Amino acid sequence: MTERVDLRNRINVMLFHFDQRLGPRLLFNVAEIQDPRITASLTRLMDFNFLQEMKAIVNAMANVVYSSMFFSIPNPMARGGVEQFMISFVIFDPTITEYLTISSLEEEMSKTISKLMMLSEMFIIITYSNPILEDFPEIETCLNVLRDNAINIFQEIFYGQFEGAKDATSQILGKIGYEAGKQVLQQVHEGEFENLRSYLDAIVESPIISRWGNINILHFDPGEKVATISLDSSIWTESLGVIATKTCAFVEGMLEAVFSKILDEHIICDEMRCASEYSYVKDCIFQIAPGGSDREITSHREDQTIREMAIEDREKTMEHIRDDIGEQFYYEFDPMIRLIQLFNKAPFISDHFIQETEEQVKFLVVCNYWRYPNDIICNSCEKWIKDSSKVPINLLKSKHRICEITYETEESEKTS
Ligand SMILES: [Zn+2]
Repeated sequence: MTERVDLRNRINVMLFHFDQRLGPRLLFNVAEIQDPRITASLTRLMDFNFLQEMKAIVNAMANVVYSSMFFSIPNPMARGGVEQFMISFVIFDPTITEYLTISSLEEEMSKTISKLMMLSEMFIIITYSNPILEDFPEIETCLNVLRDNAINIFQEIFYGQFEGAKDATSQILGKIGYEAGKQVLQQVHEGEFENLRSYLDAIVESPIISRWGNINILHFDPGEKVATISLDSSIWTESLGVIATKTCAFVEGMLEAVFSKILDEHIICDEMRCASEYSYVKDCIFQIAPGGSDREITSHREDQTIREMAIEDREKTMEHIRDDIGEQFYYEFDPMIRLIQLFNKAPFISDHFIQETEEQVKFLVVCNYWRYPNDIICNSCEKWIKDSSKVPINLLKSKHRICEITYETEESEKTS
């Protein structure tokens, strides 16, 4: 167990302001460690001040991960009528491998921002060239509370009870869920339905099951004994909120009982993604398979379904870009921003973060299609990203769930 005092050395909270005359600048850095490279990198990010407000953006450099959020406070004296700020978490910890869970801090950041927006001190600090945090006690309290809460969250997630296999509570919940699933099967009888699908529909619509959230069967293939199920408004995620861990073990157990009966074989149900893991994920996704989720799904029919889903998702992405940004504006953006926007708009990309060096920008992208064999959709993804963003990227699909997307920066083209 890592000591709390260690984490204090590894988590910074930084506040930036976009000065109309001077550009982006750092106001405060609540930190044990100061690193000018990080300040420079974050300042650059703030330069793209048209990025979405109140939505965290995660990026990384070497062993440092950072998550930032933009916000504006109305000020009639300012150009454009608003003062623009950015708050950033910086985490120095190579042992935090599941860095994407940093998104769970999004909620903490939003809370702090709503407090900061009420403070008159915010208008005073921006008039100082080198403000000192102690002179602004209200802001100091806000930033310190944010940092303390982040330290507590990380303490629990990374150094607490969630290490390794499923924790005891999830195991027990899964068992209770399994028993609940068996109860339903005693009340809904197979003989009354003309096929397995209508039997399955009746089960998931029964009040015992549907009270745990809205269940949708995305895919069901009784021949292959596989299924994909989504659950929105899960009671577990709604009551527990975003806690950077999966919380629907009960539903997992329940679905396991239901599908084992329907498919007449002991199947395994895995919650692949949970709305409690990331604040912007709305649905929990469950995978049903005889050998668990590691089993490769190769039937031709399923390939076809996945391909069609993906093509539709890609079309939706471009529609969002046209509607929200406009095609002409989109192609005027810097390549990095074009890619960020593409990943933000793509419904199948659940997270992404950026690692940049002078020569190269690398995105690590979490794609919901990562589970399927390469030849279904991933082979055409490089081309799709190149064509739609007009950025000459290279795509490398890794064995785990993250794809690497890189492109050479202009600086490296000039020198080569
Ligand atoms: Zn869940």
